[in-house]
Amino acid sequence: MNLTELTAAVTGMGLPKFRAGQIYRWLHQAGVTAFSEMTDLSLSLRERLDDSFVIFSCGIEKKQVSAYDSTVKYLFSLHDGEWIESVVMKYKYGYTICVSSQVGCRMGCKFCASTLNGVVRNLAPSEILSQVYAAERDLQVRISHVVMMGMGEPLDNYDNVMKFLELISDENGRNISMRHISLSTCGVVPRIYELAEKKLQLTLSVSLHAPNDEIRSSMMPVNRKWQVSELIGACRAYTEKTSRRISFEYALVSGKNDTPACAEELSRLLKGMLCHINLIPVNEVRETGMRKSTPENVKRFASALAAKGFAVTVRRELGSDIDAACGQLRRRAVREQTNGD
Ligand code: SAH
Repeated sequence: MNLTELTAAVTGMGLPKFRAGQIYRWLHQAGVTAFSEMTDLSLSLRERLDDSFVIFSCGIEKKQVSAYDSTVKYLFSLHDGEWIESVVMKYKYGYTICVSSQVGCRMGCKFCASTLNGVVRNLAPSEILSQVYAAERDLQVRISHVVMMGMGEPLDNYDNVMKFLELISDENGRNISMRHISLSTCGVVPRIYELAEKKLQLTLSVSLHAPNDEIRSSMMPVNRKWQVSELIGACRAYTEKTSRRISFEYALVSGKNDTPACAEELSRLLKGMLCHINLIPVNEVRETGMRKSTPENVKRFASALAAKGFAVTVRRELGSDIDAACGQLRRRAVREQTNGD
């Protein structure tokens, strides 16, 4: 519930309006997970609230810490026994959490572990929020940045993701600035137009991964529905509407999309756009068989784009020893059921 909804619920119980503000601060600023912890409410009121409402909070099923870079991966359990993963990374400027938006994913990208067994269900706004709060509570740190780059396609769970964004960025609540939030999509074109209308200050990341339909369709089934030209059209409209620079993600797969010809075609495709290109040497996922580009090819690809004047970076790989890198998140149950490990 946002503050307006909570106020309606609280006054509906015959309580004064200010109680809603108190409860909201306990939930979103103090991060408590039970009414019993709201110590400035009377005991009888806490009991009444407990009888009427549920505060959702993820359970920590498993926690892994990378030996290389202290990246932390959580396997969280949900109220119905489903599991999701979230990753916390430490950067010079603070802590970033990568959150999941769905249990599984139905987009079917050929290089990604999150989609191997399809989608089970959408996450509720509270379940996305709770990933942030549970990690903060466990690590005893304040998270400053959120990336919606975990399991799931955020624009395939549009309404709940919008509600999550409203709650996490609310000045009366957790107050993480939209400028510290990134949302990544595989290219759900109509939703990109819809998001543009909202003119949010977040960073839109677009998983492009190929400069033409032939290669992109072979890697990403979503491209058969909305082709490269339609996607780029939506991206141009997005930057025009929001004046925000788009970040294009491009996972480099050896021999597939990392050739000089691909770099050339990509630079023609994105010519004149307000954008940033983020190259990701593909993380290997056992089931997919895609191989990482060699460091020489990554360098050559990056230099070719930089020479054309593009802002280009190579994403640092964090947490790969604990399968926490891009595309490696999965419902752990899936792996255990199919491989017994
Ligand atoms: N569904 C959204 C959010 C997932 S974000 C999207 O597709 O954008 C995760 C990012 O990691 C996406 O850019 C995705 O394409 C990328 N990715 C998936 N599998 C990968 C892998 N094996 N190696 C590198 N990047 C991968």
